[in-house]
Amino acid sequence: MRIVALAGGIGGARFLRGLRAAAPEAEITVIGNTGDDISLFGLRVCPDLDTVMYTLGGGINEEQGWGRRDESFTVKEELLEYGVGPSWFGLGDRDFATHIVRTQMLAAGYRLSAVTEALCDRWRPGVRLIPMTDDQVETHVVVDDPERGRRAIHFQEWWVRLRAALPAVSIAPVGADEAKPAPGVLKAIEAADVVLFPPSNPVVSIGTILSIPGIKDAVERKTVVGVSPIIGGAPVRGMADACLTAIGVETSAQAVAEHYGADLLDGWLVDEADEGVAVEGVEVRSRPLLMSDPEATEAIARAALDLAGELAQ
Ligand code: GDP
Ligand code: CA
Repeated sequence: MRIVALAGGIGGARFLRGLRAAAPEAEITVIGNTGDDISLFGLRVCPDLDTVMYTLGGGINEEQGWGRRDESFTVKEELLEYGVGPSWFGLGDRDFATHIVRTQMLAAGYRLSAVTEALCDRWRPGVRLIPMTDDQVETHVVVDDPERGRRAIHFQEWWVRLRAALPAVSIAPVGADEAKPAPGVLKAIEAADVVLFPPSNPVVSIGTILSIPGIKDAVERKTVVGVSPIIGGAPVRGMADACLTAIGVETSAQAVAEHYGADLLDGWLVDEADEGVAVEGVEVRSRPLLMSDPEATEAIARAALDLAGELAQ
């Protein structure tokens, strides 16, 4: 079986670990979000790709959900001694090495997809991880800054520094219009038996991947099953509600499914707390959707695959 999953960071990565366990024989291709990528200290940082890579490769800080386990912060502290920030973005020493390797390879002319493949040679995530594009796409957020007026800031500044406390006027994947899917992305989707949307952020993870010209059209032709990141009217973790509000979508499992739409989604898993969600043209199933441990996560992935199997017939 060939499976394609579109993935952001924590929600995507945790689901993928369950998916790998639920379908050990399957060929899994993960199309990763790069809209969160940012250059810091002259280094290219790809938080979502790295979260997937570290999680599936066994190097993640489990409690935090991002970054390396057994991490130290000597480099960051030394940079701050020089007055060099930003201090709000947590890059640990082990993590720094990843970004140094990536930046060095990019400077040598390798594309991000090739760099990601090289990094995965070390981490052996058990899936093929491809960035959505090799082109630079950065999610920017327009806010009304009380001091500086209306301005666009990098997604990470809004999400990490401001904790999404300033309401977003709008959110846009800058550069997406001219971006091309990375090599292998469209081919993987075309060859897939099923496309899965893990419970990743519908706006700044899945939405950003779908904004790359060609990807949405390719996905639409497939059997697509999504897992709701919203349970009982709230995100399980993080501030996805702030993103949904910015695009005029209510924070509910129902509204997210309607936002994706029946052209895109064939099946939709909601939590038992959201039983009763109904969207015309979409097969909705309710079941426990908290990825509380590996077994629960594997069961969610299996339910998504079972539903996809039924729908494909
Ligand atoms: P990010 O890039 O690190 O923000 O991660 P993603 O975009 O991949 O996923 C973020 C989403 O995961 C959030 O909107 C959460 O609501 C969702 N999420 C996190 N843990 C769980 C869980 O246990 N169950 C479900 N259904 N969603 C979850
Ligand atoms: Ca992310």
